[in-house]
Amino acid sequence: LFIAFEGGEGSGKTTQSRMIAIWLRDQGYDVVQTREPGSTKVGMRLRAILLDAAERGLSPRAEALMYAADRSEHVEKVIRPALRRGAIVVCDRYVDSSLAYQGAGRALAPEDVAKVNSWATGGLLPHLTVLIDTPPSIGLTRLGGAADRIESEPLEFHERVRKEFRALAAANPERYLVVDGTLTPEQITRAIQDRVHEILPD
Ligand code: C5P
Ligand code: MG
Repeated sequence: LFIAFEGGEGSGKTTQSRMIAIWLRDQGYDVVQTREPGSTKVGMRLRAILLDAAERGLSPRAEALMYAADRSEHVEKVIRPALRRGAIVVCDRYVDSSLAYQGAGRALAPEDVAKVNSWATGGLLPHLTVLIDTPPSIGLTRLGGAADRIESEPLEFHERVRKEFRALAAANPERYLVVDGTLTPEQITRAIQDRVHEILPD
């Protein structure tokens, strides 16, 4: 079982994916909790480049390819091996982040970003994608001053990203759970648990 968490900056993906991983482990499941970018050796180096505030001029296509390279390595070395042995993979960000950030955010053709990522992942998609939908004005405020290269983009960049995530969820309702990111953390965890419960293996 492969569960991905998506959402904008400060939406609480990291907190919620941790809560769900703990909840699943408590039930005895083998859980691999992971994130993008940066969950492999090469991925950590890509993450350092991608989040470096000094790399402002990075071309959108180079950015998209680096995220795809990170993801390809992640799928090959971490996600597929975990799924093969029957573990539940809980992943903080996946392909839809690239459709939202590099596609809508950087204004790259969505079909190109989709194609590159489909190739990079061998077509692997999550069984469930949880979108924690949070207005960027709220998410960015939660983060306080800490701004990496993407977080320091203007508000309208983050609005485009949010709109794309919502469009992806609306286009793939069977794969998506959308949770209101302005609810309390406990309410959000509960909503996710209810949905995940339905698809758990015995
Ligand atoms: O999830 P996390 O905040 O750690 O992501 C690191 C940064 O990378 C974020 O600022 C996020 O917006 C950015 N990112 C991106 N494109 C992706 C994935 C993450 O711009 N495909
Ligand atoms: Mg961030």
